[in-house]
Amino acid sequence: MPHRVIFRATLGGQDEVDCGHMSNPTSSSKFTYFFGSRSSGENLTEGKAEMKNLLGGKGANLAEMAKLGLPVPAGFTISTEACVHYYSNKKSYPASLKEEVATRLKTLEDVIGHKIGASDKPLLVSVRSGARASMPGMMDTILNLGLNDITVEALAKNSDNPRFAYDCYRRFIQMYSDVVLGIHVSQFEFLLEDMKSARKVQKDAELTGDDLKELVQKFKRKVLEESSNAFPQDPVEQLWGAIGAVFESWNGDRAIHYRKMENIPSDWGTAVNIQAMVFGNMGETSGTGVAFTRNPSSGENLLFGEYLTNAQGEDVVSGIRTPQPLTLDQKKRMGEAGLNLNSLEEEMPAVFKEFQKYQKLLETHYKDMQDLEFTIQEGRLYLLQTRNGKRTTQAAVKIAVDMVSEKLISEEQAVLRINPYSLDQLLHPRLDPKKKGTPLTKGLPASPGAVSGKVAFSSSQAEVLKAAGEKAILVRHETSPEDIQGMDASVGILTALGGMTSHAAVVARGMGKSCIVGCADLRIRYRDRCFEIEKGTEKIIIKEGDLITLDANTGEVFQGVIPTITSELNQDFEILMGWADKFRKLGVRTNADTPHDARTARQFGAEGIGLCRTEHMFFDADRIDAVRSMILSETQEERERALESILPMQRGDFVGIFREMRGLPVTIRLLDPPLHEFLPKTHEEIEALALKLETSVDRLDNKVKSLHEFNPMLGHRGCRLGISFPEIYEMQARAIAEAIVEAGKASGEAVQAEIMIPLIMEVKELESLRERIERVVSKILESAGLANNVLIGTMIEIPRAALLANEVARAADFFSFGTNDLTQMTLGISRDDSNRFLPEYVDLGLLSEDPFMSLDQSGVGQLVIMGVEKGRLTKPGLKTGVCGEHGGDPRSIEFFQKAGLDYVSCSPYRVPTARLAAAQAELKERLKL
Ligand code: ADP
Ligand code: MG
Ligand code: MG
Repeated sequence: MPHRVIFRATLGGQDEVDCGHMSNPTSSSKFTYFFGSRSSGENLTEGKAEMKNLLGGKGANLAEMAKLGLPVPAGFTISTEACVHYYSNKKSYPASLKEEVATRLKTLEDVIGHKIGASDKPLLVSVRSGARASMPGMMDTILNLGLNDITVEALAKNSDNPRFAYDCYRRFIQMYSDVVLGIHVSQFEFLLEDMKSARKVQKDAELTGDDLKELVQKFKRKVLEESSNAFPQDPVEQLWGAIGAVFESWNGDRAIHYRKMENIPSDWGTAVNIQAMVFGNMGETSGTGVAFTRNPSSGENLLFGEYLTNAQGEDVVSGIRTPQPLTLDQKKRMGEAGLNLNSLEEEMPAVFKEFQKYQKLLETHYKDMQDLEFTIQEGRLYLLQTRNGKRTTQAAVKIAVDMVSEKLISEEQAVLRINPYSLDQLLHPRLDPKKKGTPLTKGLPASPGAVSGKVAFSSSQAEVLKAAGEKAILVRHETSPEDIQGMDASVGILTALGGMTSHAAVVARGMGKSCIVGCADLRIRYRDRCFEIEKGTEKIIIKEGDLITLDANTGEVFQGVIPTITSELNQDFEILMGWADKFRKLGVRTNADTPHDARTARQFGAEGIGLCRTEHMFFDADRIDAVRSMILSETQEERERALESILPMQRGDFVGIFREMRGLPVTIRLLDPPLHEFLPKTHEEIEALALKLETSVDRLDNKVKSLHEFNPMLGHRGCRLGISFPEIYEMQARAIAEAIVEAGKASGEAVQAEIMIPLIMEVKELESLRERIERVVSKILESAGLANNVLIGTMIEIPRAALLANEVARAADFFSFGTNDLTQMTLGISRDDSNRFLPEYVDLGLLSEDPFMSLDQSGVGQLVIMGVEKGRLTKPGLKTGVCGEHGGDPRSIEFFQKAGLDYVSCSPYRVPTARLAAAQAELKERLKL
């Protein structure tokens, strides 16, 4: 079993990525900052939480806790500036650093009363890296530094526990050799395994003090063999070795990869924390654990944590032993699984009470849910870390809303706290309760949602499945940082080991993936590529590639695929969105082509339809033939006859949508795609259609050929069709006007229809089409005795239209930026073929993002700004919106707000995201964030 330290915080949460200050503060002459108090009570702490940029997140929060007088083992932080200096000066330390570190070490010795390398009371320290943003891929923490052949004896004597002392020493040699000397941990793990088989024992804990002492000798020999140097005995040399390794790890492959992924600048540098050790492995009154001040999965205001007695460092999250619950309540909720586990509340009530007090204090102090690390040494509690905890979106919403009612934060802060990109997690599906059946087994629900997929036992297998367009569920004993890509490629994650704070749990929550951990019944046999579950006398075997379903809301695992239904949004969500709506100025509409989409979007809070495409309506099985005969018509009369039969269907579509939108604005785009899209492609299809339409195969074939275009996206489509075949747009205008009459009559509510003409490049196109459409519409409305409030506007999706927006505005009642086509035509990149090379562009950093996902603000953005400005020069107050994919992208929304648009329109499921992003854009402007 690997004893490697596993990073819990593998996905830097947005909250921790401090993007406000992109450059390092100007250099000062001081590179180290102390934290902790003398026993006299004198507080020597120099740092504080606000100094994150200088001290890194971990260092700044350790200082803050020490400043508050909480029991934090004393220590000091080497600032990020020292790291920056290291890299900008050919990897050399600032001249004063050696002496500064020596002075700090002296103070630390004074405060603790132990001396580094002393043969009676040796000081031991941990060396911990810590950047501004929490960053996995950075150096693993080294514990127990300062141990050598002499100090280990002192530790044994002082603790009266040689086994403990040698356990610390062998862990230290292993960690130090791995991280600093580059000797892989497995080398030491083999030796440990050999020792266990020689002693015929299963668990590490069964090895005696003498065994471990012997193991240390073996470890040291291994170091000599591998590095041709003896394991360093001088604690100061050990310390500098560790400091150097932290700095070096800032530019390690894993760290660089992560920085790229999270957009963390490479010039931030990392801090190094050197802290006096406390020991959770000194026996049954000692332990180590992690805790969240509120439940990170549900958001409930209940302390939640896990710990292990007689353990050190991150044993608790590495899955070697089943962690114990922190509270009694937690234990009860575990049901059977909790029966033979003791909670801290029961085991050490006094320590628990003290911990409870601190966690509340910290939460109130930081005004956010905290993720804590603690260690208990012989009944004394120490805090080792605090930071804003990662949580599911559901928990984030609940915590934000609760904290407003607890008067900890304001409504504005609550709205700003939720990451809009994560909102769709809330809309994640649940299993249909009627179709659930009996589960195979149950684990801990670590990150919600319900998913089905094929079992993959390795990250690479998950990636293979994903590449083949399949859904993968990654099933492992546990996960580690190397699995990030595989987790990313999977729809769900299932582990046999680990608790709610395990690597898998934390990373999955960060990624918004469904995840079940600690599924103890799961017997994974990697070699046979299967897992086994015993149910009574039956043994069920699930092989790689078999389908399973995870209900990560309950922790249940099912065989096969179980249908899901979408969740209703809860009350907390409604409250939060209510605040968002109160703050935002930007309108949020939806792209919807059917009454069903329209209803969904309204439920999510859409204030209208910004784009109703009409071509989808033509594809319906029972209409496509009418559309085809329209296309095949040789004469105008023939065409008009065919259109005549389409008209009632089209009118019916609009009536349905108008009814659903009950008086909210509905923007309908007239036919856009090139006509060949409606015709069959293969010879067999052509033959079949010819038979059906009672026409010759030749004639049909010729028509298909004549409509062929080399570049259909730049071809005979959009308003160009309207110019060539005005009767098509006239029919659509008629259908709209008649639907207005019909729907208005039925509901008594006036319909607000907006007719939108696509692909305009020149105002004359718009003028000509507008005149025809207006004539049709006003005639129908007039004879029905209705006022004509139908707006006629245009899409701005060809760069020329944006460049000449002042002219186009003459004939337009509104503009809607079609940013998909606008991006395609501005960058000269086909949005249908871009996937062949665009991902590489993003990888190489040639483009910072896929411009079809997030608006290319510097390029396409200029056309949007120009379009709005020039349009309003001609028509002040001209209504403007956006209806491309970007209308649901939070970063793009922030840009649209700045550009002065009136509304964005996006797909129904992104409406909540857009509402929140619009509120945040407004608040950021108002609060100058
Ligand atoms: P990470 O950033 O991966 O969480 P940490 O520096 O927080 O790394 O440390 C890893 C583990 O070692 C944590 O469980 C932490 O609580 C523990 N640890 C760090 N420093 C000390 C110390 N001075 N005494 C005891 N345990 C420590
Ligand atoms: Mg930590
Ligand atoms: Mg378009």
